[in-house]
Amino acid sequence: MSYVDEVYRRTVEDNPGEFEFHQAVREILESLKLVIDSDEKKYRDVSLLERLIEPERIISFRVPWVDDRGHLQINKGYRIQYNSAIGPYKGGLRFHSSVNLNLLKFVGFEQTFKNALTGLPIGGAKGGSNFDRKGKSDREIMAFCQSFMSELFKYIGDDLDILGGDIGAGAREIGYLFGQYKRLAGLHCGAMTGKGPSFGGSPIRTQATGYGLVYMLENLLRRHGKGLDGKVVVISGAGSVAVHTIEKIQQYGAKVVTLSDSDGYIYDKDGIRLDVVKQIKEVRRGRIKEYLDEVPSAIYEEKKSIWDIPCHIALPCATQNEINLNAAKTLVRNGCIALAEGANMPCDQEATEFFQQSGVLFMPGKAANGGGVAVSTLEMRQNSMRTSWTFDEVDGQLHKIMSEIYDKTSDTAERYGVKGNFVAGANIAAFEKIAEAMMAQGFV
Ligand code: NDP
Repeated sequence: MSYVDEVYRRTVEDNPGEFEFHQAVREILESLKLVIDSDEKKYRDVSLLERLIEPERIISFRVPWVDDRGHLQINKGYRIQYNSAIGPYKGGLRFHSSVNLNLLKFVGFEQTFKNALTGLPIGGAKGGSNFDRKGKSDREIMAFCQSFMSELFKYIGDDLDILGGDIGAGAREIGYLFGQYKRLAGLHCGAMTGKGPSFGGSPIRTQATGYGLVYMLENLLRRHGKGLDGKVVVISGAGSVAVHTIEKIQQYGAKVVTLSDSDGYIYDKDGIRLDVVKQIKEVRRGRIKEYLDEVPSAIYEEKKSIWDIPCHIALPCATQNEINLNAAKTLVRNGCIALAEGANMPCDQEATEFFQQSGVLFMPGKAANGGGVAVSTLEMRQNSMRTSWTFDEVDGQLHKIMSEIYDKTSDTAERYGVKGNFVAGANIAAFEKIAEAMMAQGFV
């Protein structure tokens, strides 16, 4: 059995029932066979893969808080400090009822590779809680955030582990978390990113993942002789990534016809109205169904799959494993020519392989949604330098970083004889960087 297969088998045995984690490890290890199989001894002798897969540290804690009725609530809190070979731990917090260690290990492992691919000096991490902000008052959310941070503040810092947002953790939650961090640590420093611009945040962090996704997609299409103008786009999700993807892609002349949340999706054949969506999601914090109140000609569906809607471009921006083989087949049959992953691992492995075999331009999340963490790192840099850059300055840097990620991903795929396989290109380019740093630092 090859070293790669042996390590995968052991990962499954040692982490029973953690299916998303197995899936993320398998997808990356499959690509790494191209590097490792020809020089197994070099990696086996230093147990490189075993060390890469096992997180450096997992912190698990309870989060007690009092709800508006005066009852004590208990949630679970976690932080996984995955890999610090190339820089301090960096990764977002996910607050959602589905959060458990399996999910965080999968996103943390992915994050380690994504961060390396940005070319910036950041290791990988992820954290979160099974707390769900839906239906909670502002006061309850603040109480939860303060309690969460009261435990976690001991383990983070701007040279150690830097937190950011993810599902369920947007600007409001980051503000409350940062306030409590500052109070307990007595420091106003860059231990968190995604802060408001008035207290050290980057002016473009909220937009960065969505904008970066569009910059990546534009690169991908342009370098294959295509463009965004006039293309019909299906986007899932209605959160931070989805909304800012629409904002940017409309500027390139594409027409977005859908958005969704976990209850259902809306379809507006005339093109989604961003002003209406922002009012619902950012001001009222409502559900996507409310779009119909403003645009009665749109359609709302709760039972059907969003991926049944014909489009040229699909941008899954909601959650993991939202596109399976069936959805992939429907998309290809309906004329989809490109897919870029805004969410982390939204396509399962069968769907990914089908897209690649069908000639769809497929850009994996590690490369496509790295704009958020890249701008977070620019925010850390601004905080250390005690300076602030303008929206346009950071946007220019984001544009350049996404283009560099494209080049690195594409060139690496070509170097390993799998031109156009951006999954392999992204995984291998990130691995080369992390592996070199781990080898140089000895057996730790
Ligand atoms: P948000 O919490 O802002 O939004 C998530 C959106 O997806 C919500 O509209 C949510 O609906 C919807 N959603 C969640 N689960 C499902 C589901 N099962 N079916 C349909 N819709 C669902 O998160 P973000 O926009 O920040 O993150 C979206 C994705 O992008 C995640 O995979 C995240 O890991 C990834 N990502 C985010 C980055 C960032 O900078 N924020 C950076 C890189 C990746 P509902 O309100 O009903 O839950």
